[in-house]
Amino acid sequence: MKTIGVLGGMTWASSLAWYRTANESVRERRGGFHSAPILLDSLDFAEIEALQAAGDWDAAGELLAARAAALEAAGAGVIVLCTNTMHVVADRIEEAISVPFVHIADVAAEAVTAAGLTTVGLLGTAFTMERPFYRDRLAQHGLRTLVPDEADRATVHAVIYDELAQGVLDDGSRRRFREIMERLVEQGAEGIVLGCTEIELLVTAEDSPVPVFPTTALHVEAALDVAVGHAP
Ligand code: GLU
Repeated sequence: MKTIGVLGGMTWASSLAWYRTANESVRERRGGFHSAPILLDSLDFAEIEALQAAGDWDAAGELLAARAAALEAAGAGVIVLCTNTMHVVADRIEEAISVPFVHIADVAAEAVTAAGLTTVGLLGTAFTMERPFYRDRLAQHGLRTLVPDEADRATVHAVIYDELAQGVLDDGSRRRFREIMERLVEQGAEGIVLGCTEIELLVTAEDSPVPVFPTTALHVEAALDVAVGHAP
């Protein structure tokens, strides 16, 4: 099994879930004392958040590309970026490495397609919901993406940064997310992509009237598939 190079810390709350899920899944897949061979580079999110706020995607791309190359040099045979938002610079990372990169939006799209759905609601940071990179990637798989209205987008973004990124889980926020998902379903969403790695810490399938696609859990399984030799 290849070592998985994980670009994490964006945020640590979801990287923790990624790490735990990967190890639990390897134990289920392989049994015994097997665990996931992982090289984790956990970045200081303050640095990333400052680049996001400044809109300096160039510097962010340069930074993440360098860290991905360092993971490859350290022995990683597959690289993952544990944040949906920072896939805005996925191209820069892919250019910097020669091992497979498991793109989180491709993983989400494949799961949606496998479920037989074509129109999905997307929850994520304002960057993910409003910039075209994520929706365009889903569209490459033939999917139509709906995003919440402006007020709901602001709510989702604020909950991610002010609560989930700080490790805070709030019942009122879970209720608001349920209402936002219901409004997306009323608009025609057949499923909801939890397109931010922290959201599945707050909401589960039980909170939604339609299937949800939790990107952290799906990303783990896709990365493990590649690590054991299945094509990306
Ligand atoms: N983890 C988040 C995501 O999946 C948000 C934090 C970040 O901006 O990287 O988009």
